[in-house]
Amino acid sequence: MGESMQPLISARGLTKYYGDMIGCRDVSFDLWPGEVMGIVGESGSGKSTLLSCLSGRLTPTGGSALYRSREFGTIDVHGAMEPIRRKLMRTEWGIVHQNPRDGLRLGVTAGANIGERLMCIGARNYGNIRAKALEWLGEVEIAADRIDHFPKTFSGGMQQRLQIACNLVTSPSLIFMDEPTGGLDVSVQARLLDLLRTLVARMGLSVVIVTHDLAVARLLAHRLMVMKDGQVVETGLTDQVLDDPQHPYTQLLVSSILQA
Ligand code: ADP
Ligand code: MG
Repeated sequence: MGESMQPLISARGLTKYYGDMIGCRDVSFDLWPGEVMGIVGESGSGKSTLLSCLSGRLTPTGGSALYRSREFGTIDVHGAMEPIRRKLMRTEWGIVHQNPRDGLRLGVTAGANIGERLMCIGARNYGNIRAKALEWLGEVEIAADRIDHFPKTFSGGMQQRLQIACNLVTSPSLIFMDEPTGGLDVSVQARLLDLLRTLVARMGLSVVIVTHDLAVARLLAHRLMVMKDGQVVETGLTDQVLDDPQHPYTQLLVSSILQA
């Protein structure tokens, strides 16, 4: 079986307790290259905990996550040395936080935010870095003349688009997103979603996206995992899960009774 036929991530029995509180329990799945996996469920269902366990930011109480790295081969995300994990975070992985403040330096220019990512992967030539930053500002629909502006002067939608540019400029294979449209006005959300969908498809990215918004899940995800009280209660192709939910909890979720 060729390299491309292996899952990018294999999670087995991922479990995280906070003291005696359940964060997530016994979550297993494979994420295939080019696949967008949506994790849905109401607030407190364990979505962010699971995402943090997958990216190694949280150490699970039990279970494991294997990642197939371009550079390092198959690694155990939690057994890997911290420098490897940190390197992945800057190269093969991207993280789009709900709050752009967590993923950007707001007091550093837009161009420098993108440039820093490129320097992490070895770029040194100022002209090339600037050209690449301009190219990526264009990709995320930020005017070229904003390159020397500070993101703290940007709207929330622009900050989020800049955060996306920073994450994609290094051509990662895997992006983790936690409620990427969560803090934005509805009209701004639609544009961002459209942009994300286009970029993800064009770059063939693998994505794990956490959202409590089923419309976001519908638009971006190929497959869904529905979480309740830390556990996965239903998984399937997005359209199947949303159009013909099997589990009573998913039925409630879809009928929007549980949605804020
Ligand atoms: P979601 O992202 O779906 O809203 P979370 O993963 O944030 O859910 O939370 C899952 C459960 O774990 C919740 O009951 C939450 O209160 C609890 N939890 C999350 N983070 C912590 C923490 N740092 N300490 C204690 N409990 C936490
Ligand atoms: Mg969350």
